[in-house]
Amino acid sequence: MSRTSDRVCMLELNTDMTRIVCSKCGWEVPAGTNPNTVRECGGCERVVVYGDIPRLYLIGPVTGKPNDNRETFRAVRAILRKDGYECDCPHHYIEQGTEWGKAMRTSIRQMLANDGQSTIPMYDGIAMLDGWEQSRGAKIEHDIAEALDMPCRPWREWLSPAAPAAQMADAPACQPLLAPAC
Ligand SMILES: [Zn+2]
Repeated sequence: MSRTSDRVCMLELNTDMTRIVCSKCGWEVPAGTNPNTVRECGGCERVVVYGDIPRLYLIGPVTGKPNDNRETFRAVRAILRKDGYECDCPHHYIEQGTEWGKAMRTSIRQMLANDGQSTIPMYDGIAMLDGWEQSRGAKIEHDIAEALDMPCRPWREWLSPAAPAAQMADAPACQPLLAPAC
């Protein structure tokens, strides 16, 4: 079992295989509900994840920032990874210098992608970087994600309450192996 953040939980079949319950608080998915549509637990209000590792899409200011703000994305991604999240950044999918509209279309398509051929969203939620409200692109992405019931939180709110402060200090340490194109 991988270590995951305290902010997320999985839904599990209970032992008599008749009920689907929250792995953290025991809340039961109402009968007749498709569990794939449950994004937040009705009891503990944690975000429900559908893989072993919760996966977040990072959004934030890019245009007009030095090096398209890669360093900030990389640093936040490293912190979230230490708390058990897998994270993708728009930079993983968009070449430097891509025209804004084309970049936005690529990023939004990625953000909304399903996992493989399934109907389960690839991302369990959206993590907003500082200053996202001032970014036209990030605001558009946030508004779309929120309207489509994807859990959206400022990135720090995804961290476990127990995540040590020291974790924040060594944030920029991010191995190239783990961040190929960020
Ligand atoms: Zn719960």
